[in-house]
Amino acid sequence: MAETYILSIYRGEPGHQYWEDFELELQPFANIISALMLIQRNPVNTKGQKVNPITWEAGCLEEVCGSCSMLINSYPRQACSALIEPIIKETGNRTIKLAPLTKFPLVRDLIIDRSRMFENLKKVHAWLDVDNTQNLGPGPKISQEKQKIMYSLSTCMTCGCCSEACPQVNDHSPFMGPAPISQVRLFNLNPVGYTQKDKRLHPLMKPEGIIGCGNNQNCKRVCPKNIPLTDSIAAMDREVNVQAFQDFFSFPTD
Ligand code: SF4
Ligand code: SF4
Repeated sequence: MAETYILSIYRGEPGHQYWEDFELELQPFANIISALMLIQRNPVNTKGQKVNPITWEAGCLEEVCGSCSMLINSYPRQACSALIEPIIKETGNRTIKLAPLTKFPLVRDLIIDRSRMFENLKKVHAWLDVDNTQNLGPGPKISQEKQKIMYSLSTCMTCGCCSEACPQVNDHSPFMGPAPISQVRLFNLNPVGYTQKDKRLHPLMKPEGIIGCGNNQNCKRVCPKNIPLTDSIAAMDREVNVQAFQDFFSFPTD
């Protein structure tokens, strides 16, 4: 008989969540998403009951879009890059637990609403303004060293794992979490973006900004893209202080 394992899924709607188990055949190189697809085709739980298929979210299936974030054995990560066999080997347990992230509003089953992250990106002006469509020629040069840092920061996929792991992101705190702070660093490193640095640093001076970080570094440990989040926070802390100093000595021109 083929080897099997159990996917134990914390599912349901806000206010009514419960664990439901599904037994599946162990297949080489299967990932969590492919296991969820098998359940979708035949949603029968371990009690033999036909139930509603599990709902989850996934896009690129190559750890780029950030939409399949969930708790896998209590650890925030991407379901598309979570292979079943290594998880079972590592834990020595044939049951894998899946649950939705807890720091975002629950939609249903494994789907959460990450709008808050995108709203925070808007607050910190995480983009470069383009003021016309003419070809303005090559932009200012950026050193290779800086490019390396910028590339790493640009791989953020707004997956929310860092917010999930951060103890400072909770219902009692306005803290925006580490990802938008790191995006401020990215856009301020750009020579064009730097001309609008104050637009990004001022939101970081508010109660939801940099002051909320408790510096325990969980965010950096869980980031699937290994983004140096705590370096970004330290760098932005320095920039915020310089900006505050400049603001203090700047006088209105009219
Ligand atoms: S270093 Fe700051 S942002 Fe990162 S987990 Fe700790 S408190 Fe949260
Ligand atoms: S910084 Fe890392 S963990 Fe946080 S949202 Fe971006 S990719 Fe995800």
